[in-house]
Amino acid sequence: MKIYKFGGTSVGSAERIKAVSALVNDGDKKIVVLSAMSGTTNSLVEIIEYYYKKNSDAATEAIAELENKYTKVVKELFKNDSYISKANCFLKERFAFLKHFSCSNFSISDEKAILAQGEIISTNLFQLYNEENKIDSVLLNALEFVKVDSDGEPLLNEISVLSKKVLEKYPKTKLFVTQGFICTNPEGQIDNLKRGGSDYSASLIGAGIDAEEVQIWTDIDGVHNNDPRYVEGTYPIAKLSFDEAAELAYFGAKILHPASILPAKHKNIPVVLKNTMEPSAAGTYISNENVGEGIKAIAAKDNITAIKIKSGRMLLAYGFMRRIFEIFEKHKTSIDMIATSEVAVSLTIDNDSKLDAILNELREIGSVTVDKNQTIVCVVGNMISEAKGFAAQILNSISDVSVRMISYGGSRHNISIVIDTENKIKALKLLNDNLFTKKN
Ligand code: ADP
Ligand code: ASP
Ligand code: MG
Repeated sequence: MKIYKFGGTSVGSAERIKAVSALVNDGDKKIVVLSAMSGTTNSLVEIIEYYYKKNSDAATEAIAELENKYTKVVKELFKNDSYISKANCFLKERFAFLKHFSCSNFSISDEKAILAQGEIISTNLFQLYNEENKIDSVLLNALEFVKVDSDGEPLLNEISVLSKKVLEKYPKTKLFVTQGFICTNPEGQIDNLKRGGSDYSASLIGAGIDAEEVQIWTDIDGVHNNDPRYVEGTYPIAKLSFDEAAELAYFGAKILHPASILPAKHKNIPVVLKNTMEPSAAGTYISNENVGEGIKAIAAKDNITAIKIKSGRMLLAYGFMRRIFEIFEKHKTSIDMIATSEVAVSLTIDNDSKLDAILNELREIGSVTVDKNQTIVCVVGNMISEAKGFAAQILNSISDVSVRMISYGGSRHNISIVIDTENKIKALKLLNDNLFTKKN
């Protein structure tokens, strides 16, 4: 059994849905994990914001706009009147659900129920299309087997037991369809795996059922050596190790959800990135194979906050670092990077939702400075920290950019640099020129 995950653009129109259905209908056993059609989750976020702002007119208008879009999709997707009316009936019910919320007591669970509708709609339309075209598939409800704990962390064992149990009900079925992104929390409510989470769903389900392979189908021909949204002339990387891919995903390569490599790595299941628009392109193969030494790629992670804690009696005093770490642990905020000196510790976080409480407690230990709008630029490869010359090459490339922090030697796979976000594109381009273009 393989997992095939298709992102928003891959199912972004009636035409794309038809192409995906043809692509997966090859007789091999697979679970197809679908995202919402492109733009839908963003529209749902907008609707949620209107509900929170108690602007029900704007919410109604945004819902109507989204409904119009889907009415057009249905017209293009189905041939028979009976399927057109089945699809419209389904949509009517989903859009009535979106409209039924009230501005006065709108809650976080309402928010999550709304956010889930994109994946619920895309998978149901896909399943109906298969039915109309006599393609034998079974639609599985991801809410029944993708479970998270009270911190939103996936429960791998439960996912494994439940997904295997669901599949056992259909011993003869070859093609399964399910939702990415959505899951159920311990209160039994709808939850999600954060934006871009369908990749994570695919990897979690793949690990859960011990899949042969997890394929992530998207709108580009694999993981590129740099961010193609900011740098010209990037190219796909044929092979990456799990560790390299995990670092790239964690440090901002948008093509993969930050945590999506870990479940597959844990079960040693290869992850293959493929282009839906060009299925014959090789893409990127991620596995535990030895994939050679050297610098492979650069990624950047925005919205980083850098915090410096300075104290006269710091490093020589036992327990100073522990006290700092305990504050972050207490507020369930993970630290990305850390650098120390005789008198100060600098560290970065990407989730600043508890920042005020953290700063209040840190101020009891020392004087604290905070820099917002920082970016971590991460250069990823194999053994780059140990090999001679790589660090110098990286720092020389960006000698023109002021650097806030450097992390070197923490991993064999990355050298990370914290800079002001306003210098990000410049740094990505300079690194690209010096590390890749000049070499080729
Ligand atoms: P999907 O909707 O299929 O999940 P995403 O938009 O989440 O697709 O991810 C694909 C996009 O990621 C690409 O279109 C590209 O712009 C962006 N991207 C950022 N960094 C990289 C990279 N290193 N390699 C490939 N794509 C990248
Ligand atoms: N639809 C969700 C999002 O836009 C999940 C995903 O596409 O992976 O974030
Ligand atoms: Mg994505």
